[in-house]
Amino acid sequence: MKVADIIINRPAKQLHKPFSYAVPEKFGTIAPGTRVLVPLGGSREEGILIGYHEEAEPLSYTVKSIIQVLDQEPWFTTEMMNTAKQLSQYYLCSYGDALRLFTINKTLKSYEAPKEVWLVTQPGFTVEQFSTRKKKQRELAEYLLDVEGAPLSLLKAKGFSLPVIKQVAAAEYIRSEERFKETKTRFTSLLSNEGDITLTDEQQVAYEPIRAAMDANTQETFLLHGVTGSGKTQLYLKAAARCIADDKTAIILVPEIILTDQIVRRFVETFGDEVVVFHSKLTINERYNNWERLRRKDSHIIIGARSAVFAPAEHIGLIVLDEEHDNSYKQEDMIRYHAKQVALWRGQSHGCPVVLGSATPAVTSFYKAQHKEYTLLSLPNRVFEQPMPQVQIVDMKEEMLRGNYSVFSDDMVNLIDTTLQNHNQMIMLLNRRGYSTFVMCRECGKPIQCPHCDVSMVYHQSGEELRCHYCEHHEPVPNICPHCGSKKIKFFGSGTQKVEEELRRQFPQARIARLDQDVTKQKGNGEEILEQFRIGRYDILLGTQMVSKGHDFENVTAVGILTADSVLNIPLYSAAERTFDLLTQTAGRAGRGEKLGCAVIQTYNPLNYAIIKSKAHDYIGFYNEEIQNREILGYPPFREMIRMLVRHENINTLEGIANHIVTDLEAHKDSEDIEINGPYETGIKRKRDMFYLAIMIRGPKLDSVKKYIAQSWIFTQEGLLIDVDPI
Ligand code: ADP
Ligand code: ZN
Ligand code: ZN
Repeated sequence: MKVADIIINRPAKQLHKPFSYAVPEKFGTIAPGTRVLVPLGGSREEGILIGYHEEAEPLSYTVKSIIQVLDQEPWFTTEMMNTAKQLSQYYLCSYGDALRLFTINKTLKSYEAPKEVWLVTQPGFTVEQFSTRKKKQRELAEYLLDVEGAPLSLLKAKGFSLPVIKQVAAAEYIRSEERFKETKTRFTSLLSNEGDITLTDEQQVAYEPIRAAMDANTQETFLLHGVTGSGKTQLYLKAAARCIADDKTAIILVPEIILTDQIVRRFVETFGDEVVVFHSKLTINERYNNWERLRRKDSHIIIGARSAVFAPAEHIGLIVLDEEHDNSYKQEDMIRYHAKQVALWRGQSHGCPVVLGSATPAVTSFYKAQHKEYTLLSLPNRVFEQPMPQVQIVDMKEEMLRGNYSVFSDDMVNLIDTTLQNHNQMIMLLNRRGYSTFVMCRECGKPIQCPHCDVSMVYHQSGEELRCHYCEHHEPVPNICPHCGSKKIKFFGSGTQKVEEELRRQFPQARIARLDQDVTKQKGNGEEILEQFRIGRYDILLGTQMVSKGHDFENVTAVGILTADSVLNIPLYSAAERTFDLLTQTAGRAGRGEKLGCAVIQTYNPLNYAIIKSKAHDYIGFYNEEIQNREILGYPPFREMIRMLVRHENINTLEGIANHIVTDLEAHKDSEDIEINGPYETGIKRKRDMFYLAIMIRGPKLDSVKKYIAQSWIFTQEGLLIDVDPI
């Protein structure tokens, strides 16, 4: 007997294995990838049919039957199912969780069937063609002439019976078609085609191999290393145009989807309705309709952040990751996949090129390009030959020796002054939000901590309160120390709020805008501020990392980085790389227009190579030092890593579980080269009243460890989070 294997579409660890169901005859054969409704423990659940297997009869168990088929055509293509399988094995998650990434919402409850819509066949026909005796038929034709199409339910509500509709249809005056709600048009207007997009000679050289791979239908990964302004986006446009001409889908990934961003605007301006923009503010219905447009090839291009890599396209012809080094391509909760890895798998299945573009490629990517796993394409020159911004490094220790204890060095003050005098604009980066970074008692020396997390709280001026940046806890600033009762509460460090106040005090004539998570918490706020800055309503834009990316402002000539050390000091193997990226990207915001740009970087580590190389805009120099360090210390790309995070409300139980995992992994590893470290305390020991312990696994190859974990008790352990290739 043939039995269907069905994955229940719900994220629960006990449900990770497929269940068996019988297929009632009335459904015929249901293709794998189809969503169905099945009975489970007294309720109905949505499931995904992933395949079939034979069972000897009589069955040793009672098998229940599928209740309903939810898709007319399978939602999941074979390729999507294969990619999900790879993803689940690589990232150690369940197959169901991986499949769910290819759907819109976490559960598919809001599944919408296409609606049958009736419309007039020929726009030229008139109602005179109906004899006046057939009143209802004539009315129906009249009505449909007026509207663009009406669903059956509406026609029925208007009093047209099905026989009447059928009679008119039999005369071929009207016909029906399947439409999805809100997908208003099948019409697409392509504004440009491949020939319209011109390339410089240098760009043409870089484009040839991409085009060749597209023509040959072969997967090839390209690392497009080009400074900002060198024409990377121009190349993506060109390749996408060719993709459309082949009737294939292009997936364009960007770190964050900002509608006013240059790259999004250029795609929409170039291709019109051929582009679907996939952003977080879309409603579930809009998302669904966008995906439907792609599936039906009403649109051939999707541009979006990392989750757009799961676009349900049947024929992918091109995948682009712009700013490929960006950490937002890694999902940091739930299933910790990296969009680059998924893009490579999908590119493999579809036989299409994957283009990774960046001015500062990930060290791991550049290593692969050096070792011919990726094809390196270089665009070393800016199209309009603007010089790179001039970068000045200020040693803050020296500044203090000279008696300047302010957050602004003298050079920074000069830069601000000149910028304001010349009526130019400035971007200022500070990686800490809030007012003072911590509040401490001067008597006993203890900082005031969050009662739910092991972390100091941050003073926020609005509301005059202390807030925890790891949970929602907030409280008024205490008058007396909760530890010793002293009244000597003091504020230390500067966050964006305090710097804003300081700027307003020292430069009263400057118009200042602040952009950080506190501001963008309100929807639309962030985009509004950026737009106001773009049109010149502000002189200085002060903010956290949000100000460092993508934005292209013509009048920004100056960039100030208040402390380069905040990222350098984070305890991660990639701290230097992150610092180099942040400094290079932020400094790169200056001088995008006609005017020359200047940047001042303040630091306590002026001799650090990440800082020195970013001053010189020397990516290769940085890479060469960094890759040596990685090799010596045994970090990626030389070794693979898996980080496990175990969580429990009881510290003793937690230690028990974590130790058990370590002993078990030690006992089952098949090579001495595999190191299992831990359990050790994480940066923050307690968060939201939960305790955390980490375990780190490292080795040249970790496939065997993954295989063991996937079939062991560890896999289904509650409260365990597995992060493969942590960043
Ligand atoms: P990147 O993506 O590397 O930052 P862009 O593609 O945005 O580079 O190019 C920088 C600027 O140069 C843009 O304003 C773009 O319109 C223009 N540009 C790029 N290539 C060409 C070209 N071949 N002909 C004319 N203008 C170009
Ligand atoms: Zn105290
Ligand atoms: Zn907290």
